[in-house]
Amino acid sequence: MPPDEFRAAAHETADLLADYLAGVGRYDVVPKIAPGDVRKTLPAAPPERGEAMDAILADYKHLIEPNVTHWNHPGFMAYFAITGSGPGVLGEALAAGLNVNAMLWRTGPAPTELEELVCDWLRQMVGLPPEFKGHINDTASIATLLSLAAARHRLPGLDIRTKGMAGRGDVPPLTIYCSDQAHSSVDKAAITLGLGTENVRKIPSDALFRMDVAALRDAITLDRTAGCLPVAVVATAGTTSTTSVDLLRAIGELCRAEKLWLHVDAAYAGSACICPEFRALLDGLELADTIVLNPHKWLFTPVDCSVLLAREPDALKNAFALVPEYLKTSDAGATNLMDYGVQLGRRFRALKLWFVIRYFGVEGLRERIRAHCALAQEFKQWVEGEPAFELCAPVPFSTVCFRSMPEQLKTDPAALDRFNEKLLAEVNAAGPVFLSSTKLRGRVVLRLTVGNLRTTREHVAKASELLKRCADEAQPRPSK
Ligand code: PLP
Repeated sequence: MPPDEFRAAAHETADLLADYLAGVGRYDVVPKIAPGDVRKTLPAAPPERGEAMDAILADYKHLIEPNVTHWNHPGFMAYFAITGSGPGVLGEALAAGLNVNAMLWRTGPAPTELEELVCDWLRQMVGLPPEFKGHINDTASIATLLSLAAARHRLPGLDIRTKGMAGRGDVPPLTIYCSDQAHSSVDKAAITLGLGTENVRKIPSDALFRMDVAALRDAITLDRTAGCLPVAVVATAGTTSTTSVDLLRAIGELCRAEKLWLHVDAAYAGSACICPEFRALLDGLELADTIVLNPHKWLFTPVDCSVLLAREPDALKNAFALVPEYLKTSDAGATNLMDYGVQLGRRFRALKLWFVIRYFGVEGLRERIRAHCALAQEFKQWVEGEPAFELCAPVPFSTVCFRSMPEQLKTDPAALDRFNEKLLAEVNAAGPVFLSSTKLRGRVVLRLTVGNLRTTREHVAKASELLKRCADEAQPRPSK
């Protein structure tokens, strides 16, 4: 692509981006299309001859942009709502232009050092001690996998890195502990590491959806007695369903007493720790061996960007470092990021996070997190004030779990579940907002989460209005 053509297309792309971000609220959050609809509009075979950028961008505008689920929409309040903020998008674009692969310091000096720097900024922002050092992965799922691999590698005498696990009589079942509210990425890590999902102990949670620490202690004792080898505990700070926070100090102290590795999944709620008033909820976080925080969840950085902080980064390095001949360098003292995980090639993710932190400033980021939590509190109050709705969990951050509770269905849990599923489908089909659901103690519960920078009181009010209207209309009427 000749430079002039690139410049013109880049300006056009910048306009597309700016128009999209300014006008995304005009779309329905979820496009009204069926599986296969997009594919039908696109040629089945690749073009034999190159096409003009104008045509490609026009197809992007008409065939692709309208047919995504708009995660950058202010009415997106499902799962954990996120934001690809302006500075983050620009950082992503510039990283694409540089196209560096910072596997070694030598192959990416500034990217390597910026990654170390922004991870240290994040560490300071959440109030962790300086021994924690970080690196960036694509997702929290990978961070948890890496952490558990490091924990397994630390087990004395097994040398699983060299000998593997299969066919060995001297490797007992290796057990991992997390609450019944933990994210499925813990199971996936157990699958990938060959530990087996049966060896992930799902410790019951208490009435506030936090891991029951006494039950955790009992499970570890029982496993040791039965000849299993406990490897690690995964505590969660901000569980996926309710955003509950496990009792990190009690769990951390237990892990120290039991000489167990502690990984804290703070993918969502870690961001709240940049506000000092939320740190008490994560008291004991510094007892962790590793902590994962996702700037791509609630720190306004485009997907993907997940920071893994480790108290002893060498634990990761010992588990993973493996330098083939062609990658050997003589840069003494340099960090080679490929040593800390599975992947060799790596994207320059630090740039967008650096842009975001610098553009908003830590105080600016705090203001936005606080605003999101305040909007969630307003929605919670609305739920509490509506006789036909009930709150289903505490609201420590920006996520509210609730459900509709029509008088006539109160005594029929299965019918209540069906009613709430239908309600969610109707509210989402309306277009302006997108909510999600989960199950708590086996019952269907709806979730509204605030995490997009453009979400205002009006968007949350729209959700309340739709919920009330759709619930009223769907309500079973007493037979005459
Ligand atoms: N941990 C928690 C608490 C989550 O809620 C999620 C996803 O929502 C994950 C981990 C997985 O995140 P990722 O998509 O970065 O792997």
